Amino acid sequence: MINSAHVARKRFGQNFLHDHRIIDQIVEHLQIKPGDHWVEIGPGQGALTAPLMQKATTLDVVELDRDLVALLQQHFGNQSQLRIHSADALKFDFTSLVQADEKLRVVGNLPYNISTPLLFHLFESSRCIADMHFMLQKEVVDRLCAVPGSKKYGKLSIMAQYYCAAEWLFDVFPESFDPAPQVTSSIVRLIPHANVPVVVHDFSVLDKIVTQAFSQRRKTLRNSLKTLINEQTMINLGIDPNARAETLSLADFARLSNALA
Ligand code: SAH
Repeated sequence: MINSAHVARKRFGQNFLHDHRIIDQIVEHLQIKPGDHWVEIGPGQGALTAPLMQKATTLDVVELDRDLVALLQQHFGNQSQLRIHSADALKFDFTSLVQADEKLRVVGNLPYNISTPLLFHLFESSRCIADMHFMLQKEVVDRLCAVPGSKKYGKLSIMAQYYCAAEWLFDVFPESFDPAPQVTSSIVRLIPHANVPVVVHDFSVLDKIVTQAFSQRRKTLRNSLKTLINEQTMINLGIDPNARAETLSLADFARLSNALA
């Protein structure tokens, strides 16, 4: 990584990785292949950028902090395989990076303050993404990977699993960062589905039902969804009105949502 006097900015969610064993472990899990087109979000001081540069054929990095962009340009600027984008990843059009029929491989130690909106922004481009590896708060990774019936299972699990298969890879403790964050982090692998796992007629209806069902997660569906769907419709769809939201699969929620859409 770049040696610099840069002072970490809290508002940009800056927690720089400085543990070389963790950096190596991440890079190993990426299984970088010749010809890959990589995109790194939030390269910061280049902790992951440097090892990526050694293996990736093409690398686009998107960084919001202009001071860090300048630092990256200074350090890596003359290498033709790297393109540095001074931009907000939340607004960045990732599809614009795609050449021919390739798919992007995305990686980042993400700014935790924007991780959920950023994930959904990327999900919208998931057609052109081969896979994504992210460092996130462990809490968020647990929710992304949670299965029906588990405590962490909720709206984020269902909405994310509509787009991707999610897999927890390993935990990373606060000491591996400078400054150290308050919480444990985890690395997650997200692989966009080639075909949607369930048909959803109107995604906004799914969003609405899932939000309402989990906003009162201890209630039965009969009660929590009372204003949206009547009991008989649920029974006709094969869903027990006495069940709670956390026991329903994505496919169950899709059936409910399609009945309304
Ligand atoms: N990858 C580096 C830095 C991680 S910290 C490392 O592992 O050490 C998160 C990085 O994301 C910081 O560089 C921060 O400036 C950047 N960042 C924060 N918000 C961003 C946004 N909206 N778009 C792009 N980058 C952002």
